[in-house]
Amino acid sequence: MLEIKNLRAAIDGREILKGINLTINPGEVHAIMGPNGSGKSTLSYVLSGRPGYELLEGSVTLDGENLLEMSPDLRAAAGIFLGFQYPVEIPGVSNLNFLKTALNAIRKARGEADVTAAEFLKLVRDKAKALEMDPEMLKRPVNVGFSGGEKKRNEMVQMQVLDPKLAILDETDSGLDIDALKVVSKGINALRAPDKAILMITHYQRLLDYVVPDFVHVLVQGQIVKSGGKELAYVLEREGYAAFAGAAA
Ligand code: ADP
Ligand code: MG
Ligand code: MG
Repeated sequence: MLEIKNLRAAIDGREILKGINLTINPGEVHAIMGPNGSGKSTLSYVLSGRPGYELLEGSVTLDGENLLEMSPDLRAAAGIFLGFQYPVEIPGVSNLNFLKTALNAIRKARGEADVTAAEFLKLVRDKAKALEMDPEMLKRPVNVGFSGGEKKRNEMVQMQVLDPKLAILDETDSGLDIDALKVVSKGINALRAPDKAILMITHYQRLLDYVVPDFVHVLVQGQIVKSGGKELAYVLEREGYAAFAGAAA
């Protein structure tokens, strides 16, 4: 599904990603773990098409298509969802309007008709309910005045409504108390399916107790220095990142 080959990217002339290789197949859940500043968010931004990053080398394909040449809109239409470490607030735009606009933009790019008002409301209410979100929050401006946990929960509602093929979640667990973490994990697990994939980016092992990954990769100084199964997360928890730091070139 997603194939990243020797991806090198820089910000302001400074190389941050130093040759990333990663293949994600349908049905798989991958976790990228790494210390602060290792390039985790940079990788998620480059995959989502955020401007400001200089691509030095390498390729990224989604189902064989060159992802790096697609606009962010087309990436979303192709089924990529990016959950941000710091979800943005959008004053003046209600959650409902935001979701409807996003959903219809994706449908339009795929040549599908707009969702009907009734279908849309049912869909959003069902997803909000499943994630234990107060339906009143759907009417409020996107993330404005939401607590950290509410923002992450809202992001899971967005993800469920948009129903992506590949979800890339950057530190979705940061700042969550245990109850919010369980709800967010439920949202991620609900997306697991044989034709979908999830890339979780996290600093801590805690999330991986609830969303058990098939593969864990350790990112240090812009390079994946080790890959393994879920047990690798426990090695990291026990030994810290320092044990892997020497592996970066
Ligand atoms: P992580 O998400 O793993 O904590 P980031 O991808 O946010 O790491 O950052 C990787 C490195 O890139 C850090 O050294 C950070 O300071 C640097 N960096 C990130 N964004 C910018 C930016 N906009 N301008 C300059 N340097 C940046
Ligand atoms: Mg960070
Ligand atoms: Mg980050």
